[in-house]
Amino acid sequence: MYRLLLLVFLCIFVSVPAVSQTLPEGAETIQGFSIYETLDRLASEEFQGRHTGHQGFTDAAAWVADMFEEWGLMPAGNDDNYLLPFPVQYTIINDASMSVHIVDEEEESGFREEELKPETDFLPLLYSDTADRTAEVVFVGWGIHASDIGYDDYFGVDVEGKFVMCFRGTPDPQDRRFQYHDEHRTRMQRAKDEGALGLIYIYEEPIANPNGDWIEGFTPVKISYDVADKLLGERGFDTATLRQDLLQYKRPISFPLESQVRIQVASTHYPEGTGYNVAGYVEGSNPELRDEVIVIGAHLDHCGTHMGLLFPGADDNASGSAVVTEIARAFAENDIQPERPVMFALFGGEEMGLIGARYLVDNFPERFPTIVNMINFDMVGAGDGTFCGYSADHPDLRELVEDTDTYIQTVQSFFPIRDIGVRGSDHAAFHAQGIPVLYFVSNGPHIKYHTTGDTIYRMNPSVMEDIARIGYVTAIRLANK
Ligand SMILES: [Zn+2]
Repeated sequence: MYRLLLLVFLCIFVSVPAVSQTLPEGAETIQGFSIYETLDRLASEEFQGRHTGHQGFTDAAAWVADMFEEWGLMPAGNDDNYLLPFPVQYTIINDASMSVHIVDEEEESGFREEELKPETDFLPLLYSDTADRTAEVVFVGWGIHASDIGYDDYFGVDVEGKFVMCFRGTPDPQDRRFQYHDEHRTRMQRAKDEGALGLIYIYEEPIANPNGDWIEGFTPVKISYDVADKLLGERGFDTATLRQDLLQYKRPISFPLESQVRIQVASTHYPEGTGYNVAGYVEGSNPELRDEVIVIGAHLDHCGTHMGLLFPGADDNASGSAVVTEIARAFAENDIQPERPVMFALFGGEEMGLIGARYLVDNFPERFPTIVNMINFDMVGAGDGTFCGYSADHPDLRELVEDTDTYIQTVQSFFPIRDIGVRGSDHAAFHAQGIPVLYFVSNGPHIKYHTTGDTIYRMNPSVMEDIARIGYVTAIRLANK
């Protein structure tokens, strides 16, 4: 009787979830709610938006390192450390204000003054220096002076002691020669060298950006299209049309404005900060393959807290960090003994320009002479499916993911990765060294990208569960291939 009941019970129990029965390698132990909990904590006020160098980031890195240790992952650093330090400069914007002074003949002063709202209308670049200045504005197209290509947005305009205003981008997005000139660092330094007080970037929304260098006395900010329309209106231009013209004619369109802006920034710069990559690993069981590591990675950092605004970075990239952490936990708890070692790496400094991942690739732990593959997860929290990038010359990687996806069914499309340029995520640092990579990004929409609105409320535990499972199974298969 009891036996019969037990048998009936077992039959019910084992026949319930049809999908999980077929999941390989214990992938069903990866759970969306567990990922969600990790994400929730990473994106909380406790870690202050995880700005590399800042205590909030360091605390988040230490928390992940503690989990790695608790689960029994091996420390990857040369000194048997989980926290791998690298030098970093960072800046905190304590306070900022901005107003526009639009030419208006009806006003007694000749100007109509408007105070701008932080984040909605303007936001300093997150490496702006302290200053308070009022000056005229000169529009300089893309802000590019490239003598090697024979293109100069600064030709014929005097920007000395003024603010320059420009778009992000280049006259020809297909022309790779412009890539270097499109880096924020290059554009800021150029404006400074031309004598500008600061650079006003025109973005549809003034989103947070720490990707650049602090330059003494230089105050770069972003403004919205709406604000740019007000300034450009003096010359009868509207922002969207002007941008379209620059792209269509591929020639500089630069001109001074009589309108002025006041930019006030109070910031603290830390020239000698320390960032961290967090790295733990599971040993390889095959003595002949134990030098060849598979890296599973995501960036842990985001944009921090500035002017009292917390940029939580839930999608970017607490989601990817939580997915990698969950895969690491499953490897440890399922006692996976891969033939090759598998390293779990959470990078710092991605938002500043892949600083942590580049540093890791250049100073890779000596115990691993060869990196076989790298799998990156960046922004995997919003949406209900995933896109998968793979090194173009390694279609076998795509086939492996396609095969794994027959169990999970979350990949919506694949795209080949060739030349990543200046806008890639951490896998770009590995790809640049010729290491075959995979890259997962959820289908979104990622509409609150780099804003205070990138909170846990838009995150979907089930898509993260699917992506973590596909990453986990793929990692095991690559390690055993
Ligand atoms: Zn990211």
